[in-house]
Amino acid sequence: MATKKTNCREVARRLQSYLDGELDSDRMEQIKAHLDACVDCGLEYDVFAAIKTDLSALTAPAESDALARLREFSSRISEEANSAP
Ligand SMILES: [Zn+2]
Repeated sequence: MATKKTNCREVARRLQSYLDGELDSDRMEQIKAHLDACVDCGLEYDVFAAIKTDLSALTAPAESDALARLREFSSRISEEANSAP
């Protein structure tokens, strides 16, 4: 009989890292297999994934805003450098 390598508690603990892709490929495979096989963890994964998607949707405009500000800042710096005597 095969040993159950990944249990629900371990999956729950590593779900965030799994979503972030921070685990090694063996661990990713184990958790993926468990999520496919276990309805409870599959549902929990869906919730986590939805939260992560919402967060990235919220932070994406803020990031591009910050990038635009950074670009403006750096162009102002180079203008000041050019106009300096
Ligand atoms: Zn499970």
